[in-house]
Amino acid sequence: MRKNIVAGNWKMNNDLKATKTLVKQIKKSLKKTKLKNTRVIIAPTFTNLPSAVKRCKKSKIEVAAQNMHQATSGAFTGEISAEMLKSVGVKTVILGHSERRAYFGETDALLAEKVNAALAHKLEVIFCFGEELADRKANKEEAVVESQIKNALFHLEADAFKKIVLAYEPVWAIGTGETASPEQAQDMHAFIRKTLADKYGNGVADSVSILYGGSVKPANASEIFGKPDVDGGLIGGAALKAEDFHAIITAF
Ligand code: PEP
Repeated sequence: MRKNIVAGNWKMNNDLKATKTLVKQIKKSLKKTKLKNTRVIIAPTFTNLPSAVKRCKKSKIEVAAQNMHQATSGAFTGEISAEMLKSVGVKTVILGHSERRAYFGETDALLAEKVNAALAHKLEVIFCFGEELADRKANKEEAVVESQIKNALFHLEADAFKKIVLAYEPVWAIGTGETASPEQAQDMHAFIRKTLADKYGNGVADSVSILYGGSVKPANASEIFGKPDVDGGLIGGAALKAEDFHAIITAF
């Protein structure tokens, strides 16, 4: 059975002190919470990963990075490799977030390299993709999503999908307060699963967790997560408040 996942993308928020505080609050909030088939992941900034990993040991929280470079090492000033993430105990990395695509020029081809590097180092990948508002207005959302997935992932063998989580994040819904309706999310998630099934078969398609991201909040989480092909969420703003994050985790 595929897992439900609630992952908090903290983006460029929280210094070391704030990271320690938020980790402590989330741990406390989860202490008496029974997680049914649900993984909880947080993704703090690079500098705070070692502290978060240390504090989340023996807790219900896993720690992910928000990005990584595709090379193992070398002259890439300011970058962080998969090996470096592994060396501080990180096991999961978010790749392809729309902010990385928009502000740092990350293309599908580059993301395919990053995915390869992450998997080669046995890191799990949360792979993000999603259409822009203009694509949806032009009824091109499925074509855009299909090409993002195919270009970055469809060179992989079926087995690789054991280490891949998909995160559908319509760009028009990220940080805007605008959420895809539960029906829009379900329609797209079903399309994504069918795209996977057409290429790899139902076994792979049914086993991959597909998260929704885009202004998920305590008020809308259970309706979105209630849809059959939505296996949880990648959460931005609402992941920065322990109370809201906990309400989303328990929304299944
Ligand atoms: C995100 O950044 O992945 C995200 C979904 O942000 P928000 O929840 O703030 O829309």
